Amino acid sequence: MAEEKRVRHILSLSGGKDSAALAIYMRDRVPEMEYIFSDTGKELPETYEYLDRIASYLGKEVIRLNADVGFDHWYEMYGGMIPSNHRRWCTRALKLKPFEEHCGDDEVVNYVGLRAEENRSGYISHKPNIKAVYPFREDGLVLRDIEEILRTSGVGMPPYTKWGRTRSGCYFCFYQQKIEWVRLKETYPELYEKAKEYEKPFEKTGNFFTWSQGESLAEMERPERVEQIKREHVIRIQRNAARKENLTLVEVFASADTAEDVDEDDNQGCLVCSL
Ligand code: SF4
Repeated sequence: MAEEKRVRHILSLSGGKDSAALAIYMRDRVPEMEYIFSDTGKELPETYEYLDRIASYLGKEVIRLNADVGFDHWYEMYGGMIPSNHRRWCTRALKLKPFEEHCGDDEVVNYVGLRAEENRSGYISHKPNIKAVYPFREDGLVLRDIEEILRTSGVGMPPYTKWGRTRSGCYFCFYQQKIEWVRLKETYPELYEKAKEYEKPFEKTGNFFTWSQGESLAEMERPERVEQIKREHVIRIQRNAARKENLTLVEVFASADTAEDVDEDDNQGCLVCSL
């Protein structure tokens, strides 16, 4: 009789709250789970500490995957093109490819931390041997449940939420809202400076791209602009809070941030980088 093909169970951590909560949720349900993290080399420094915390709860190593070549290589290859929602080469090269290589040709069940109330679709592997499953969706778990899982496990929310960032991923992720750029500058001024360095005409082509839609980081850091961004953000929070009295504080901030100055697709986020 032919030997039955082994199925691998893989959960990809992003450094964000949903994948962290899913790892906790699945720990005893799928003991053979492999936990992985695709490291872009441009992550927030605190992400590594958070992954250690998760690994310690799981009692298992979180396997680090690194792309063969990093962000800067692809940035050069793409002619100095800063990625964006419509030019998202970074997720493919730095997250998806290492994940697919790690899976190889094995049959894989890929656990994705999309919540029951989310209707976003996103960037995940569509290789025929990789099947995505959505346990939170299937079990009807929403944001409050995810917060509760993180709280009761002792793992807690990702550290970046303390300074008001809403997504995991690269420190310069183009999905950040303007207020998050302001907070990045206040929290990690050196990373803001590094992000700024990419915003220059690419010498071979003269191409010039910005991380944030419509303005450069140099323009955004002007004191009067910073004040304006902060003011507008407070107004948005107040408006949302008045409209949605029953939301948790995290939900109020999240809804304020996703409503801000982005094109519609941006709300779909990135299932690989930011769950
Ligand atoms: S976190 Fe953002 S910049 Fe980094 S790989 Fe993902 S989409 Fe690209």
